[in-house]
Amino acid sequence: MKACLKRITAALILLLLLCGCTEKIPAETEAPVIVPPGPGETLPLPETRIPETAASVTEPPATEPPETEPPAEIIPTFKADLSAYEIYMAPADRDGYLLLVNKTHPIDADSVPADLVYLPQEYAVYSGEWRARMTSVAAGAYTAMLTELSANGYTDVKATLAYRSYATQSYLYNNYIAEEMAKNPALSKEEARAIVETYSAPPGTSEHQTGLCTDMHNVYNRPDLELEDFEKTDAYLWLRDNCWKFGFILRFPRGKEEITGYQFECWHFRFVGRYHAKRIFDSGLCLEEYLEKLQKN
Ligand SMILES: [Zn+2]
Repeated sequence: MKACLKRITAALILLLLLCGCTEKIPAETEAPVIVPPGPGETLPLPETRIPETAASVTEPPATEPPETEPPAEIIPTFKADLSAYEIYMAPADRDGYLLLVNKTHPIDADSVPADLVYLPQEYAVYSGEWRARMTSVAAGAYTAMLTELSANGYTDVKATLAYRSYATQSYLYNNYIAEEMAKNPALSKEEARAIVETYSAPPGTSEHQTGLCTDMHNVYNRPDLELEDFEKTDAYLWLRDNCWKFGFILRFPRGKEEITGYQFECWHFRFVGRYHAKRIFDSGLCLEEYLEKLQKN
């Protein structure tokens, strides 16, 4: 029995020794065998991964066109530095200065602009109570226009009359009628009135009551000249071509007498703001025609 146990023990030890010697050798990885394609066969293409690009994950572009904003208004260039006056020449309230006052669109007798200011001394004829006044925005634009006019060498233009009250208008109108009748006693009052109304508005129908217009010229101290002679001056030509840049229009142009109800007045300029002044200038329309066109659009 003892000898038998010895043999078994010896066999076990041998077995353990044998097992301890055997290290586990990792199996060699076999290189893949590429079998060249036979005639008519093709190698399978490798699987290609399409990289995810930004374009593939973003939303498709909107098909609606972007909102188109109207082109910005161009600020004209000036010789003088008028940057501080830009808010007057092109006021934020773009449509706030289109008031129409004429023989068929009268203004209330008690209508007085709230913000009348005197025009600068150097750009207005001063004669006591008659010194010209305009509403503050129009006065600022007027000052800019005259500053630039001077910078261009025309230094003798001044405002002679801007705001005129209903009471003054009424007084002058009746005086004119009396004068016409004194000159020609054969005239009836109605006939005299018709003559007066070719050069002076009946009370309540003059836009001078709005404080948005001014008469301006360089013949105020020239008794040898008529108001109409201002048209022959270079200063007038400059104003005619450039007044829109400051927000003004020539209110009673030649050729529009039937519509405005007034003869051509080279001295009467009206403030409407640059946006509309440019469009009126470019179109050749008078204010009545322009406002009618605006209403239709
Ligand atoms: Zn006038």
